[in-house]
Amino acid sequence: MAILVTGGLGFVGSHFVWAASRVGREVVVLDDGSAGTDPPMPAGVTTIRGDIGDKALVRDLLRRASVDAIVHFAGKIQVGESVTNPALYLDVNLVRALALLDCAREASVLRMVFSSTAAVYGEPEVVPIVEDAPKRPVNAYGASKLAFEYALEAYGKAYGLKWAALRYFNAAGAQEDGLLREMHEPETHLIPLVIDAALGRRPPLTLFGTDYPTRDGTCERDYIHVSDLVSAHLRAIALLEQGRDVGPLNLGTGRGSTVREVIDAASRILGKPVPFNVGARRAGDPSALVASPARAEQVLGWRAVRSDLPTLIEDALRSRR
Ligand code: UDP
Repeated sequence: MAILVTGGLGFVGSHFVWAASRVGREVVVLDDGSAGTDPPMPAGVTTIRGDIGDKALVRDLLRRASVDAIVHFAGKIQVGESVTNPALYLDVNLVRALALLDCAREASVLRMVFSSTAAVYGEPEVVPIVEDAPKRPVNAYGASKLAFEYALEAYGKAYGLKWAALRYFNAAGAQEDGLLREMHEPETHLIPLVIDAALGRRPPLTLFGTDYPTRDGTCERDYIHVSDLVSAHLRAIALLEQGRDVGPLNLGTGRGSTVREVIDAASRILGKPVPFNVGARRAGDPSALVASPARAEQVLGWRAVRSDLPTLIEDALRSRR
């Protein structure tokens, strides 16, 4: 039986496809190509270019590929864009995702692992953040992801869907062979921007704000290696296949790094300074987002093992050389 991977050409999705193939799973990718990335795919993986909201297409492929689980990565991911264009985020991340979910129900494909986000929490009152913390998203990105989690929960109760909503903190790094890399267009994420600035491929980094209430005044984030993310997905699928419920889980390390700590670690590893200018705060940035991964560790029997800052940066760097 195959796993349908939506968004399999994206950063986390492509890493998942390779990891799932390596453990012998049959994979079918559905991706509309909107991320503009064209990562290599393992032999034997079928890639269908199309829209998750195209019900005729999805029905047909669920039937023909005999899919028994869906890992749903496809979606829009830029917080800032979601503030200026919420219609797009609600359309892709919610309306079209609901079409996919409903096709799955019709086809009795009752297992789904969903790429969710720490943005469902908004500005947390307490860190590390536990799954039951208040969910008050502050942008349409987080709201659209949270709304889809509620849909999963309702489908679980009504139709017996087994689901996991994996709330990623800051995904980073790359698989060790350097074949895949983090690439977004435009790139807005800190670690690739820091590396490219140090290598002289981009202008100096702008450090968004030094007046946050953190240990050095810069924002604190919980960076998690993409290889650790994908191993959590594989474990979640295995549990769903055993008939277990998983629900929402934070994927992070429980340890935060500030922007300055990322810059310092990168310049140590690269052996050269990271050129940067201090700029104003970026709208919508919470001061600290750090996961409590306790529930994920307990439910999945999983731990982040490659998410220390030096490993993350070294793996990201290898993939960008
Ligand atoms: N950041 C920065 N300069 C940049 C990009 C990001 O100072 O050019 C900061 C950003 O304000 C945040 C952290 O780096 O505190 C991580 O940002 P990123 O966009 O990578 O992830 P986010 O936390 O927004 O999901």
